[in-house]
Amino acid sequence: MKIVNDFLVGAHIKLTVNVGEETLIPYYIVLHYDAANNPHSAISWMLNPASQVSAHLHISRYGVVTQLASFAKKCWHAGISSWDGLTDLNTYSIGIELQNDGYEPYPLIQLSTLRSICETLVATYPIKEILGHSDISPGRKIDPGKHFPMHEFKSLVKSEKIIDK
Ligand SMILES: [Zn+2]
Repeated sequence: MKIVNDFLVGAHIKLTVNVGEETLIPYYIVLHYDAANNPHSAISWMLNPASQVSAHLHISRYGVVTQLASFAKKCWHAGISSWDGLTDLNTYSIGIELQNDGYEPYPLIQLSTLRSICETLVATYPIKEILGHSDISPGRKIDPGKHFPMHEFKSLVKSEKIIDK
């Protein structure tokens, strides 16, 4: 996969107006589930100005990738959040929504697509860590949930950075 001008080549593009004016400082990737049983409702919700929510990417159960905002823009996915001395993680993270209702396993095609995307983001931006919403908003959020293999994704940053050297 490849990123050109802050867009993932090959992704479906559906730009949302739910973005901030501030420039994003992409230190983290924050993973979410969309709590939906179809790929469309979360995307429609993020495109709706009334929702005031957005994420940079949505990945369906079938591995279909939709990009809703440039990776240079601040999206609204984290809410009240903190990590490593920082608050308002929307300013510091790329948000990825995974189609999952919270109770189902994540299909391999969805996970392998996410893995390639995370590797590409880590190679392109100064990503320090891959986090779950539950890491940055504990007690308030539980996504991406118990079915998500978080340890496999956390290790992607380290291995990438070693390869870079
Ligand atoms: Zn979330």
